[in-house]
Amino acid sequence: MQTQKLLATYARVSTSLQEDQQTVKTQLVVLREYAAKHGYTIVREYVDEGWSGDTLARPELDNLRNDAKSKTWQAVLIYDPDRLARRYSYQELVLDELRERGIEVIFITVAAPKNSEDKILHGVRGLFAEYERAKIAERFRLGKVRKVKEGHLLVSEPLYGYRYIRNTKDRPGRYEINEEEAGVVRMIFRWIADEGYTMRKVVRRLLEQGIRPRRSKRGVWNTSTLSTMLRHKGYIGETHWGSSYAVVPENPLKERKYKKITKTSRRIRPESEWFKIPVPAIIGKDVFDRARAQLEKNYTFCRRNKKNQYLLAGKIYCPCGRKRSGEGVLNGKHLYYRCTARVLSFPLKASCGSAAVHARVADQLVWERIVELMSSPELLSVQAERWFQERKSSAQSTGDTVAEIDRETAKLKSEEERYSKAYGAGVFTLEQFKKYAEPIRARISTLSIQKMEAEKFRRDDRLVPNPAELRRFTEEAATLLNDVSFQKKREIVLHVIEKVEATTDQLLVRGFIPLTRDVTSSLARDHASTTHHHVEMRSNDRYGLNTNRHDRKPKGVPFMFELNIPVVSVPRHRHRNASGQFS
Ligand SMILES: [Zn+2]
Repeated sequence: MQTQKLLATYARVSTSLQEDQQTVKTQLVVLREYAAKHGYTIVREYVDEGWSGDTLARPELDNLRNDAKSKTWQAVLIYDPDRLARRYSYQELVLDELRERGIEVIFITVAAPKNSEDKILHGVRGLFAEYERAKIAERFRLGKVRKVKEGHLLVSEPLYGYRYIRNTKDRPGRYEINEEEAGVVRMIFRWIADEGYTMRKVVRRLLEQGIRPRRSKRGVWNTSTLSTMLRHKGYIGETHWGSSYAVVPENPLKERKYKKITKTSRRIRPESEWFKIPVPAIIGKDVFDRARAQLEKNYTFCRRNKKNQYLLAGKIYCPCGRKRSGEGVLNGKHLYYRCTARVLSFPLKASCGSAAVHARVADQLVWERIVELMSSPELLSVQAERWFQERKSSAQSTGDTVAEIDRETAKLKSEEERYSKAYGAGVFTLEQFKKYAEPIRARISTLSIQKMEAEKFRRDDRLVPNPAELRRFTEEAATLLNDVSFQKKREIVLHVIEKVEATTDQLLVRGFIPLTRDVTSSLARDHASTTHHHVEMRSNDRYGLNTNRHDRKPKGVPFMFELNIPVVSVPRHRHRNASGQFS
């Protein structure tokens, strides 16, 4: 019985649909039966449910690859290579990695390649499967194209203002005007085209009139839906299919480690490749064009405002954790940083009650303090010292943590060894052994992850500047920061500030001043040359403020300070309308 192999199993299904849940159960049953038949012991089952095989970034697959290092099992059992990854090259990547760690991979449907000849055969099979899939996808796409060409409209949901009439034996599917919705469409276009409404005003008016979008939990129109509608040529009698296609986003809005769908961004195809299908028009082309022009105008106005008026934009946060965004000038004489909870829930009541922060005051206070800091060696060295002490104590506690984890791991490992010896000597049955050993192994792998996390802290070892460097930097900064354009101030703010947490009476500012000459020399260039108004101060990613900090290690001083906002009259409730909303 000593030869019993310890196994891990891996199963994956790409959706969490009912039928697929069946598949995952089937997979598990098959895997367990196979293991039992061959006398293998399953130590752990890894299951990724609802994950596409197009990506390798799957939580359980990651766990499996990670656990492969600790060798708690000797082999992985998988139903077929497709479960591992759709693409042959991805399969190979994982297979190679596991092989390097001495882990055997067993597929139930195909024999894993043992020699190079096998490997070629496996490769050919993989490539062939890939080709088959591509062929099926293409056939499916062609089928759609044919349907469109025959005059069928392919829609998941008809455009607002229309209803979809399904195809019958003698008529293809088509759009028909939904008079009630069409009336709303006409009204929205007129508001913008003829009365110069902003999108927000449209949203408010619709709410006031009790006109709800077709499907919405909040019962409120959102501006992106509206802007898509206002651009839709269907309303002037043209609709099209295939104008955009899904791609993996180049600059994803949110960095998420795991994505169930990778292609979340859309790219527009050239108009010549669209399929144009006539639909009944709801509005005239003149109104359509005028509305579009007005939106364009609103948009550029809005952009200009944003760019010029708010020094702390993008860096200032609400105590509730959300960002604050600049808003004001159009509604009153002051500019404010408002919690985005309010902006996002507009026009409904916001979930966050935090009041607006006066932008001019906050900008001025923060900027003054930044200048002070950058031009005073004393202030900077106070910050440097504070940071140095913090680091020392955090390094200390990290060291303690790691040592503790190591101690516990060692203890668990010897315990595990005792059990396996006992099992080897026939003291335990296999079931008993598993019952004792499994929790220990789980604990060991949890600890190894905790250790990795703890060690990450240690790596943040930016260099501490010396007094001479501090002095030279502050002297240069002092002369150059005197009279700076808004543009330049903004660049410096983006550069050095990481986060401003703002309540109505206090600002907590954190950041990092890189003591490279680039900061001051860029300013110097700006000062010296009047012809070069827009000297590019290189992007704020340069010093790793927003990018991976472990790649570059600039010399510099992290800082943190609090500012009290003097009492200014910031009305909490301005211009409430009948429904109690802010206008
Ligand atoms: Zn808030």
